[in-house]
Amino acid sequence: MALYVQKYGGTSVGSIERIEAVADKLKSFHDAGHQLVVAVSAMSGETNRLIALAKGITESPDPREMDVLVSTGEQVTIALLAMALQKRGIMARSFTGWQVGIKTDSAFMKARIEDIETDGMRKVLDAGGIVIVAGFQGIDSDNNITTLGRGGSDTTGVALAAALKADECQIYTDVDGVYTTDPRVVPAARRMEQVTFEEMLEMASLGSKVLQIRSVEFAGKYKVPLRVLSSLKEGNGTLITMEEMGSVENPVISGIAFNRDEAKITVKGVPDIPGVASRILGPVSDANVEVDMIVQNVSDDGTTDFTFTVNRGDYKKALTILNNVSNELNAREVSGTDDICKVSMVGVGMRSHAGVASKMFKVLADENINILAITTSEIKISVVIAEKYLELAVRALHTAFGLDAETVTG
Ligand code: ASP
Ligand code: MG
Repeated sequence: MALYVQKYGGTSVGSIERIEAVADKLKSFHDAGHQLVVAVSAMSGETNRLIALAKGITESPDPREMDVLVSTGEQVTIALLAMALQKRGIMARSFTGWQVGIKTDSAFMKARIEDIETDGMRKVLDAGGIVIVAGFQGIDSDNNITTLGRGGSDTTGVALAAALKADECQIYTDVDGVYTTDPRVVPAARRMEQVTFEEMLEMASLGSKVLQIRSVEFAGKYKVPLRVLSSLKEGNGTLITMEEMGSVENPVISGIAFNRDEAKITVKGVPDIPGVASRILGPVSDANVEVDMIVQNVSDDGTTDFTFTVNRGDYKKALTILNNVSNELNAREVSGTDDICKVSMVGVGMRSHAGVASKMFKVLADENINILAITTSEIKISVVIAEKYLELAVRALHTAFGLDAETVTG
């Protein structure tokens, strides 16, 4: 008998039929003797609908009232799911965030969970019932309702699992696991049996949006075994673990992530003297623009070129700032482009294998793809290339690093 925390996302509870299907699924776990705590999202589209209602009144709603509003979606689904279970003869109790004691800080719309009371949940579990908790919401020390940021029900699930020391946190969603890359770009992408937290964080921050990033951080910190699976299709999903668990073949590269949301700015001919980098990037960060990759060329004539990337949404703003800075610095020219993208290979196996970077560059060179910037970390290599080559690059790398499905017979 195990204690599972299961989280069902908006699509999984998007209609009465789906809610009934979730209840059937829960019943089979319950019948098998497992204890269940279930976190649910609002019905799909509901949170967006509520946000649109607020926007109909004002462009900048009060964050506290926003949380009172958007937290209602989850209150609907917990009650309906409890009813569906009761109809099946199972004792079930729904709880909103405050009822179950999910204490957060007071950062409305992006609150962080600080503490969860488990006594109330234990009572229901001990009596043989199923606990159903509203995802995405909590309460601060002044009894204000708070929410955890979009996609926050994932974090509710993980936090409940951590607080209850559950055997596993299972995130049921509309995809059947985490893939080696986006299957829409590479049809041969494979579902990973498992991936480490470290890898998952790199992939999530690079735009693989299966889980809210914060939930992965949380699970890593509290060592909660986390599994992503489909609520519509049978399967093992993908297990996110602390360590690679000695599988038969650990690929050097686990996955390829990419991000189209990039722009690049180059300042040419700046004097190569101490303090230049900070004089260029200082004003950019003062304007709250996050800089990602930074490349400074070697100088030969006492001047150098300086290139960095920013989020595409910040491109115009950064360019304006740089045009001002470049006058002060006597730079020759400021230029930029926003038709670039970033492609990253991620894998803990990289640590023990030399030559991953050179192989990656060779694969791109063979496809005649020019690399505009490179960064590396212990488990990741990222390159910036023209956006028009994104699909080609990801496909070629996916094949070259042996990630394509159906390489094994049987
Ligand atoms: N309903 C919230 C959202 O749409 C939270 C969640 O589903 O995770 O962002
Ligand atoms: Mg989600």
